[in-house]
Amino acid sequence: LIVGNDRPAPIPTALTAPFWEAAARSTLVRQVCGACGQNFFTPRLACPNCLSESWSWEESSGRGRIYSFTVCHRAPVPGFSVPYVLAIVELDEGWSMLTNLVDGEPSEIDIGTQVQVAWLSVADGQTLPVFRLAAAGQ
Ligand SMILES: [Zn+2]
Repeated sequence: LIVGNDRPAPIPTALTAPFWEAAARSTLVRQVCGACGQNFFTPRLACPNCLSESWSWEESSGRGRIYSFTVCHRAPVPGFSVPYVLAIVELDEGWSMLTNLVDGEPSEIDIGTQVQVAWLSVADGQTLPVFRLAAAGQ
């Protein structure tokens, strides 16, 4: 667990609370539609593919690849140490999330680089999913 106590903490809602509760157990989850099988994130009331409200939270492997990234040199709010990498990670189950890469030099990072979820502990006992470069063979 990486400590980032200065980072803003999430404010869970009725819809997002299961995501944050799983994150507190270092478990990454996403919604999966029970009607069409679509994986989706960020949390929604209905499947973005078929509008079904029959979905469930399912555990992710936490493994994926960088879909896109940028290096931020100016913090949007206090609590971010710059520079940091903002990335869209496409998870192996076929869904994606906007997140941060927490290690690796920008020169080591490219589109398609394999990454693995890691966990950042922030204020209020909450935990954020972030990503690091996957070790070779993982
Ligand atoms: Zn659906």
